[in-house]
Amino acid sequence: MFTLISLPYAPTALEPVISAQTLSFHHGKHLQAYVNNLNAALPGSEFEGLSLEEIICRASGGVFNNAGQILNHNLYFTQFRAPQADAAPKGALAAKIAEQFGSLEAFQAEFVAKGAGLFGSGWVWLQADAAGELSVAQYAGADNPIAHGFTPLLTFDVWEHAYYLDYQNRRPDHLKALWPLVDWEVVERRYGR
Ligand code: MN
Repeated sequence: MFTLISLPYAPTALEPVISAQTLSFHHGKHLQAYVNNLNAALPGSEFEGLSLEEIICRASGGVFNNAGQILNHNLYFTQFRAPQADAAPKGALAAKIAEQFGSLEAFQAEFVAKGAGLFGSGWVWLQADAAGELSVAQYAGADNPIAHGFTPLLTFDVWEHAYYLDYQNRRPDHLKALWPLVDWEVVERRYGR
């Protein structure tokens, strides 16, 4: 059985970029539904007792979609904190971003462009390969780096439910506004170098 993660901040902590109302629906309704759906599908199946990562690497169809959406949202919600104007990575991740993208700003521009340009619902990711090389990737629906052998570091949700109450059709504006919310210490831990 999987459970809904607790948010590591207050419902209003991410305002005005992510309102308490959006957070309430996104976490309390959308993510809860994915948890409920997966828990309903697992008993008696070959996936019972496996971790989310194991399910994602083996399943397809509805089981993959619900497991993927739980994992993606768990990574998404736990990478944020109250807005900080100077939010930026440090250490090995900062150096690698500068080496591969030229600057943090250039990386952020590519990340937002790929999130804005993803057709339909999905997620934009910063991912690392086994050697620590970074890439920005678009994955549709519930798909994610783990299903493709990469380590997920950072993700922005571009499903409309993530931003429509606050930004309506202005997806690029929403994505640009998320940067001060990123807790880079969490992202650095995921990178693990
Ligand atoms: Mn979502």
